[in-house]
Amino acid sequence: MKMHSYWLDTATPSGDHTETPIPREVDVAVVGAGFTGLSTAYHAAKAGLSVAVLEANTVVWGASGRNGGMVTNGLGMGFRDAVARYGEAKAKEYIDLYNDAVDLIEQLVVENDLDVDFERRGKLILASKESHFEGVRKTSEALRRLAGHDTEVLDREQIRAEVGSSAFFGGFTETRSAAVHVAKFGHALAALAIREGASIHENAEVTDLRRIGSGTTHELVTTRGTIRAGKVVVGTSGYTGRPFGWLQRRVVPVGSFITVTEPLPKDLAHELLPNRRVATDTFNLLHYFRLTPDDRLLFGGRARFALSDPASDRKSGEILVAARDAIYPQLRDVTTEYMWGGLVDISMDRMVHAGERNGLFYSMAYSGHGVQMATYMGKVMADVVAGRPEANPWRDLKNPWIPGYFGNPWLHLRAGGTWYGLKDRMS
Ligand SMILES: Cc1cc2nc3c(=O)[nH]c(=O)nc-3n(C[C@H](O)[C@H](O)[C@H](O)COP(=O)(O)OP(=O)(O)OC[C@H]3O[C@@H](n4cnc5c(N)ncnc54)[C@H](O)[C@@H]3O)c2cc1C
Repeated sequence: MKMHSYWLDTATPSGDHTETPIPREVDVAVVGAGFTGLSTAYHAAKAGLSVAVLEANTVVWGASGRNGGMVTNGLGMGFRDAVARYGEAKAKEYIDLYNDAVDLIEQLVVENDLDVDFERRGKLILASKESHFEGVRKTSEALRRLAGHDTEVLDREQIRAEVGSSAFFGGFTETRSAAVHVAKFGHALAALAIREGASIHENAEVTDLRRIGSGTTHELVTTRGTIRAGKVVVGTSGYTGRPFGWLQRRVVPVGSFITVTEPLPKDLAHELLPNRRVATDTFNLLHYFRLTPDDRLLFGGRARFALSDPASDRKSGEILVAARDAIYPQLRDVTTEYMWGGLVDISMDRMVHAGERNGLFYSMAYSGHGVQMATYMGKVMADVVAGRPEANPWRDLKNPWIPGYFGNPWLHLRAGGTWYGLKDRMS
């Protein structure tokens, strides 16, 4: 069993950035080389700014290289909840951004001829219990009527033709969502950023920073030297720690885990997901699955509320394999080749938070929907640091502190796990 990301295992790195000399001064320093940081670097460098990306580990080491690669157009908090909280017009405005974000990834792929296995074949939302079907139907209807999404409700019989499993009680399809090979995409973004003149520095953890005066200029201390930047963009998401304490208290990292099978025979892969859509079920401790470009089944989920470490990844992976085989008994004799985990960045209100505080710019808290949105927000943050704060569509949202959270997620994970597990059993 390989206990690391299948994506990282099957992508060619954009280069070795572990010894690139850190410049003394840049217009923009970006902290984190995930989709947020790399996309910010690419777009800011393309606009003519000098940019250095400072990454504690390696390119796409964080959530960006560990996720499901599902490029979907749904909100982290769910569309009907967003309508209830913000009203129809604002909820539509927010969800439209996800369509724009999927389009941006497609545009980057097409314009730069990126070889990143981008496929736009839509998504499936699957009712895990009979009692969930009515909610699924209402969501599909709300998305179609209020947001103009191309959704279609399918009953139990029809959904079986989409998933090759009788485990679901209906669902809906939506056609604008996509899938991508996330490590190939991340390294392609890194190469684009370098092409535009940005520099990338791996093994360069930012350990301290000091604001110079009352503006946006900072001096950053990294494990590879010190750098002064006119603007700093923090893109550390679920891996946010000291020295970004204010941000850290606003994002709870929650473990999400993934298993990947060996390559499946063509006819078996076709039987599981004949239209190659990406799929999510309706449990609170949800499952998501899709085919990889080489016809493996990637099956992920929260499994249990826990952080990610080798023991936790294995335990969660075993729970996921059991759930996968209950949905697809035809996979019982198939070898599971990969298991890994990563940290999803969840905010108090499950909305994206981006902006500036005390001269520091940031974008994070994609709440499990960051492949497209982090990439999109990189473009936005490049605009923001160029002096256009109005480009930030999330700027009016308050960024609340998570009560009682000081950076140790265990208490919240335990409470969350018990609560959501109970909700799933009772629903
Ligand atoms: C298992 C899993 C499955 C997911 N599936 C999906 C999915 O299918 N679709 C979807 O849309 N989203 C999904 N997500 C969420 C998505 O992956 C994230 O929202 C997105 O990748 C966040 O990107 P980012 O660049 O903001 O952060 P990250 O990719 O997490 O990058 C943050 C980087 O910051 C670095 N860093 C942290 N602190 C410092 C420091 N002090 N100095 C320097 N560097 C630092 C870290 O090393 C890390 O590389 C999933 C997440 C996980 C974990």
